[in-house]
Amino acid sequence: MPIAQGSCPGCGTLIEFGLGASMARVCDTCHTTVVRSDRGLQDLGKVAALADTPSPIAVGDQGTLAGRPLEVLGRVQLDYGLGPWDEYYVSFDSGMQWGWLAYAQGRWYATTLVPNLTAPPRQDLSVDRDYALSIGTFSVVEVRSAKIVSAEGELPNPIKAGTLRYYADAYGPRGAFATFDYDDGTGPSSVYSGWIFSDAQLSVTKLGPRTARKVKTSLLQCPNCGGEVPKLHDGRSERLGCPYCGAISDIPTRTVVAQQEKLLQMPDIPIGNTGIFESISYTCLAYIRRSTHSEDELYQWEEYLLFNPSEGYRWLVKDPETGWSWTTFVNPADIDRSILPDRIRHANQTYVQRNRSLARVDYVLGEVYWKCSIGETVSVMDFACGNEVISRELDTEEVNYSQSRIVSWPKIAAAFELPVSGPGGTGIPAGGGVIRGAVGCGTIAVIVVLIVILVVVLAVAASSGGGGSTGPVFIGGGSSYRGGGSYSGGK
Ligand SMILES: [Zn+2]
Ligand SMILES: [Zn+2]
Repeated sequence: MPIAQGSCPGCGTLIEFGLGASMARVCDTCHTTVVRSDRGLQDLGKVAALADTPSPIAVGDQGTLAGRPLEVLGRVQLDYGLGPWDEYYVSFDSGMQWGWLAYAQGRWYATTLVPNLTAPPRQDLSVDRDYALSIGTFSVVEVRSAKIVSAEGELPNPIKAGTLRYYADAYGPRGAFATFDYDDGTGPSSVYSGWIFSDAQLSVTKLGPRTARKVKTSLLQCPNCGGEVPKLHDGRSERLGCPYCGAISDIPTRTVVAQQEKLLQMPDIPIGNTGIFESISYTCLAYIRRSTHSEDELYQWEEYLLFNPSEGYRWLVKDPETGWSWTTFVNPADIDRSILPDRIRHANQTYVQRNRSLARVDYVLGEVYWKCSIGETVSVMDFACGNEVISRELDTEEVNYSQSRIVSWPKIAAAFELPVSGPGGTGIPAGGGVIRGAVGCGTIAVIVVLIVILVVVLAVAASSGGGGSTGPVFIGGGSSYRGGGSYSGGK
């Protein structure tokens, strides 16, 4: 039952509002944004056609999020330059509450407006900083402005296509999440808070009408060579590295974005294979080669992107020095970053900075969830404690933390049913490898002090004409990167 209705001022079509909180609606027929007011329905101008996005859900869908009834009422498309992403306007509990839902990094982010709470001043914001609010302390992971590109369906507020929206995303303890919303930057700010959910926690029980030109298929076709590969992550992936011709293409727009050589050697873990780790089944979606330059040396390693609907994304990283490691995201809100850049603390352990580098993407094969490109770089800091490493990937607008631990090739081979004697066991230290300098964390601190002294001594020697070099400092693998991707979905 609509709570309000009237004729579209643009084309005369019947316009209905299903939720009391909806102040605007984009006309399905003429794409005019129609605003409810005391004087009836007002015309706010037309929005552009919606862009194709991976969009796992659609306006009109009904289902549950962690058991809570949900209906998708509208969608806003935003873009900060890498391609549009979707934020869905949803009602919870059959219209009792409304909020926003977005998909990023293999997870759902659901938020609702916190009444009477303003966000920290925008000029005070920076990524990787904590902000204490009345609802808890939140660690900011992303600060951006994005352009509102288009919209459809009902909306809580009138939107004007083409305007900028300023926002920051932040994590709280135990899977809490918040968006600081500065709107167009001129008015008061607001805070939306909520939780992060796994893919498996969202269940769509009734499909709405699909407005996008979506052809349901189980294959992805490379727009460069026409080759087809099985679709591994339906409605989630942004880019494809083609196994036949090497082209990287944008999946939603089916355009070629980069050329790379065809991969001559099969990855150690074939894309599409499924492996079982700790009783959880992960599908290998992509193979990525990354590198860092230090002095004159190029250091390369390989990363495999894995996915499970309940767990989200994981990485298996093959590093020629440290062997294989298993990498997961870490919530920065669970990390004490007050002693950065030297150390961090996580789960009562101190991690000491081991190295910092610029990591570059050199090669991509398979499906990835962000708008990745060859040559994209991110600044990485690795912190080690015993055989575990926490990596921090940072640029001015976004930060990500991930944790890696050593895993042996025979364990990976067994999980993916690959031969232990296969290529995955070559090119790495015998015995599966250990994180370099794997000793007690206290010892590491002492060693770091010694290294610092050594570096200072060498630097003094160098500046006095000695010309000494401290040698290359390498990233030890184990990085989660979302690659600054729009997969970031604004979240
Ligand atoms: Zn209309
Ligand atoms: Zn191709």
